Amino acid sequence: MAVINPEIRKEIEKYGIENFNACYNCGNCTAVCSLADENNSFPRNVLRNAVLGLEDELTTTIDPWLCYYCGECTSTCPREADPGELMMSVRRYLTTRYDWTGLSRKFYTSKKWEISAILLLSMLVMTLFIFFHGPLTTELTAEGGVKLNTFAPWKVIEMGDWIMAGLLSFFLLSNIGNMYYKIILKKKIRIPLKFYFTELWALIFNFATQYKFSKCEPKETSFFKNLKHGKYNYWIAHFLLMSGYVILFVVIVVFLSWFQTDSIHPWWHPQRLLGYYATIGLLVGITYFIFHRIKKDNEKSQHSHFTDWTFIILLLLTTISGILVHIFRINGMPYPTYYTYVAHLMILFPMLMIEVPFSKWSHLAYRPFAIYFNNLIIAAKDSKAGKKSSTS
Ligand code: SF4
Ligand code: SF4
Repeated sequence: MAVINPEIRKEIEKYGIENFNACYNCGNCTAVCSLADENNSFPRNVLRNAVLGLEDELTTTIDPWLCYYCGECTSTCPREADPGELMMSVRRYLTTRYDWTGLSRKFYTSKKWEISAILLLSMLVMTLFIFFHGPLTTELTAEGGVKLNTFAPWKVIEMGDWIMAGLLSFFLLSNIGNMYYKIILKKKIRIPLKFYFTELWALIFNFATQYKFSKCEPKETSFFKNLKHGKYNYWIAHFLLMSGYVILFVVIVVFLSWFQTDSIHPWWHPQRLLGYYATIGLLVGITYFIFHRIKKDNEKSQHSHFTDWTFIILLLLTTISGILVHIFRINGMPYPTYYTYVAHLMILFPMLMIEVPFSKWSHLAYRPFAIYFNNLIIAAKDSKAGKKSSTS
């Protein structure tokens, strides 16, 4: 029997949505949503569960992760119940329900908690540098660059990167395990083992491309017409930002000895080209998202939760401080290089530790996993139906 928790509505409102109780179940949103079919009244199922306080149904649903926030449902809702934003709020709520540490809920519902955690981790990085930094030499390399590895040897920084990557992976993967438990195991859905392998492509493809976001706007038939009319802008900006971030993350965790060098390579060297691509990708993505969040010119930028702003500001500061370190280093400016490098890590470390497992960045992992789990469920159902029809 379904358990009703009347507090659930208030709880969901803490994650951004304001007026979803106004829904009178007319069905307009389902009529326009491309994810709805005869078996799934999308997004009304989620709305109904939220309005009725059906906690179990809400915490085990996969639907909000499949929604790519095109906003069609919101613009056709006669009651301004904002179903698109409800899906966004439920995604935040689900993030807190997958997270067993309880930190995600603290960060999503309390500015004080989020800002204090950022400051605490920043201070930790600064303290480590105060006690363990190398000599602040003003002697320059033969090419006139700063000897950054004397001040912050890459081997020491790499060790810190590995500890951080281990912690991030532990928290994020255990939360994904919890998501799997709620979506599949708790509902006692039996998935034949082979589908875990045959459907793996969906996870890899969607993680690498976040392709679903390209469906955010209604399309014409021709790819080039869509491109010309800016119909892929959101996905392109998202892809540039995401690929820039992933490249830099992999480089600093796995290839730091190759990336953090004292020698100044020519501009066409792969080390510099990769760094420039990642930096430009981040800047284009950040500018696009800040611009639209300020202008509020489409459905998905109408509402900005404070965690959206924290994330984008931290990312912007990380990018700017990284650019400054590069400029100071190759122009032979030792002290500005050292201080900016410390500031860069003081922003980067809290951003990764908070955003990747507990907040905004975690959605980049939950979405492709949800698509993967959904494919598993469909494949298992199809296989069961196939077996039934062949025996009947
Ligand atoms: S269109 Fe609005 S009022 Fe109608 S079912 Fe959807 S959310 Fe409710
Ligand atoms: S935002 Fe778009 S994809 Fe999401 S529920 Fe609404 S219409 Fe469907």
